[in-house]
Amino acid sequence: MSTVESVCNLMNNYARWSIRLVKGKGNAVWDEAGKQYLDFTSGIAVASLGHVPDAVANALHEQVDTLWHCSNLFEIPIQEKLAAKLADLSGLDGVFFCNSGAEANEAAIKIARRYAQKVKQTDRYEVITFDQSFHGRTLATLTATGQAKVKEGFAPLPEGFITVPYNDSEALKAAITDKTCAIMLELVQGEGGVHPAEQAWVNEIRELCDAHDLVLIVDEVQTGIGRTGTWFAFQQYGIKPDVVSLAKALGSGFPVGAIMAVGKVAEAFAPGSHGSTFGGNPLAMAAGLATVTEIEEQGYLQKVNQLHDVLVGELKQLQSLYADKVIDVRGLGLLLGLELSVPVADILTYMREKGVILLQAGPQVIRMLPSFVTTEAEIKQVIALLKEAIEQTA
Ligand SMILES: *Cc1c(COP(=O)(O)O)cnc(C)c1O
Repeated sequence: MSTVESVCNLMNNYARWSIRLVKGKGNAVWDEAGKQYLDFTSGIAVASLGHVPDAVANALHEQVDTLWHCSNLFEIPIQEKLAAKLADLSGLDGVFFCNSGAEANEAAIKIARRYAQKVKQTDRYEVITFDQSFHGRTLATLTATGQAKVKEGFAPLPEGFITVPYNDSEALKAAITDKTCAIMLELVQGEGGVHPAEQAWVNEIRELCDAHDLVLIVDEVQTGIGRTGTWFAFQQYGIKPDVVSLAKALGSGFPVGAIMAVGKVAEAFAPGSHGSTFGGNPLAMAAGLATVTEIEEQGYLQKVNQLHDVLVGELKQLQSLYADKVIDVRGLGLLLGLELSVPVADILTYMREKGVILLQAGPQVIRMLPSFVTTEAEIKQVIALLKEAIEQTA
């Protein structure tokens, strides 16, 4: 009982793997003993350019010697620069910076309500969300989340959230009332099992939002910044949301969150209506700007699409090889799910022991989020090990 390792003062809110990571570079991470792992999750959709990418590390080093913090009472040039870049890439107008995905979604909910109440002068407040969605861990965002397990023990929850089945038009239409102010969704449900939204349903949501003057919020915390092969998943669906939330990959691992909104909604955030001490911090902005610039200059979107084709091709072969065990391959870009007919926990443990880190999205789905700098050789390595794992465990 006297070793440091045996005493842990961290709260027990994560079911952690017993791997102690201390270093990362590219797709590799190393534990304390020097064992190397291939991170096929990009730190859960965060390290899209690999761990410690040079371009972002250099920008951070430079910013560390320049200015760390600056209150949002000042005009912050580097914040304006990243906002202009995001507006340009998305076609949306106003940007607000915060520090995480939950905070971004919290801001999205607030701006939708404030638009309804202050700009449109209505008493609307209800937000419609979807089963199996994931929007974060703050009180409002866990209430918005369509999974009972994240809500246990946190009552009373904030009012004004209604959750209906995903990809179901009738349920959605029935849920819209004269109190509805927004519809909020992920275009690919990440945590909830890697489920892409159906195109026709998404078109219908846009039409419903137009017809009822509802704010369409797309949660791109996981799908944004190139993960699905376009800058934002909404661009593949050919719709324009009113509000988009971002976080995970935006800072390559440095905490940055953001919402982007179309002009009329963006105006709802007047001085004093919302804020954050650290949001838009110069260090975070340096990381964000370097990340976005690097994706643009290195042509990574094209790379994501190429890697998608290779990886999906391999996974489909796996499916035909083990047709009784592998029942679906789905997802967009490099946000992919492999659904099995059996629980996947043992497969993931086997893979970790062999040095490959993968994720689950529900009990029977393996979630893969490889970085944009993944090589075909690494894909082949993962597939070969997956074959072994399926044969040995499933
Ligand atoms: C991860 C995630 C969040 C929460 O982000 P945090 O930074 O953990 O607060 C919200 N929405 C989606 C879709 C996510 O994947």
